[in-house]
Amino acid sequence: MSIKEISKKVVILGSGPAGLTAAIYASRAQLEPLVIDGPQPGGQLTITTDVENYPGFKDGIMGPVLMDEFREQALRFGTEIINVWIDRVDLSQRPFTLYGKESQDSEEVSTIIKAETLIISTGASAKWLGVPGEEPVPEGLGGNGVSACATCDGFFFRERPIVVVGGGDTAMEEALFLTKFASSVTVIHRRDDFRASKIMADRVKNHEKIKILWNTEVKAINGTKESGVDSVTIYNSETGKTSDFPTKGVFIAIGHKPNTDLFKGILDMDDVGYLITEGKTMKTNIEGVFACGDAQDAYYRQAVTAAGTGCMAAIDAERFLAEHSSEVEMSTATRW
Ligand code: NDP
Repeated sequence: MSIKEISKKVVILGSGPAGLTAAIYASRAQLEPLVIDGPQPGGQLTITTDVENYPGFKDGIMGPVLMDEFREQALRFGTEIINVWIDRVDLSQRPFTLYGKESQDSEEVSTIIKAETLIISTGASAKWLGVPGEEPVPEGLGGNGVSACATCDGFFFRERPIVVVGGGDTAMEEALFLTKFASSVTVIHRRDDFRASKIMADRVKNHEKIKILWNTEVKAINGTKESGVDSVTIYNSETGKTSDFPTKGVFIAIGHKPNTDLFKGILDMDDVGYLITEGKTMKTNIEGVFACGDAQDAYYRQAVTAAGTGCMAAIDAERFLAEHSSEVEMSTATRW
């Protein structure tokens, strides 16, 4: 197989709100950026329903529709988007080198990408409980009654009882969405207070189809390959009692982990894996490499803040190129 080679001034890894905003800005600055789609093109918003808090859409907008708009806007100004799996990077010298394969399972490198600057916007992925029964099929019931995406899988639970694990905004959103399908929704939370915003928590607390089990931890997910999920084993930390709670579906909504494993040992990151950026900039510890969105933000984690940091990363990359390359001049304020 022949290896495709691509050279770019700006390469953006990941195509969620951060990556595509960086692409809109870099392409309007005529830097002809390359965006590399990750395993979930469009990022986490493509698996949500209504987005009610993205400015400019007073009646809300569906997550996938919003991401299509981002994508079209980036393409309009000359962004190139490709879909390869990057499993190795060499950031020891510029231009940086990214090695791409056709898919995660492919053996051979199909694309070599040379990048004068790299913007990392690889986002974050759902976390799992790590309890027996949660593993993907065939080992466990993952995909056969256990899910981390209500939008993707809610439909399969029409008129069935389901549980949602977690106490943050994602858990609230999933629980509310699932009331459309399920016969009952039970939110299982390990503490006696939700972490979620008050407005979302109140909607859940006041919903007639939703029950809440406080101070409760899921210890195992039970069922068979044939029947799917039958129950969860739960432990009440107040009473110290363990029992089985019948359910046909388990939706895990306990937060996210940044997708930064590719950069372990190469870029500075915190204990959880969030990339560390310098001061008010999006600069990482390697000159010419920038990080934005959920890959570097453990605190705000919103689509609008991700988009904001994508814009900042693109401006940082353009400034870097203006300083290090005779071909690039900093664009004027009007060009942004
Ligand atoms: P969060 O980190 O906010 O919440 C995670 C929840 O899961 C917490 O209640 C936590 O419990 C619980 N949890 C974590 N680990 C475990 C575990 N091992 N076992 C049991 N429970 C566990 O994540 P979210 O994904 O909910 O939200 C992330 C960010 O995205 C937030 O800033 C949120 O506001 C935002 N968001 C906004 C939305 C909107 O505005 N429409 C929708 C969805 C998310 P504990 O509280 O005890 O730590």
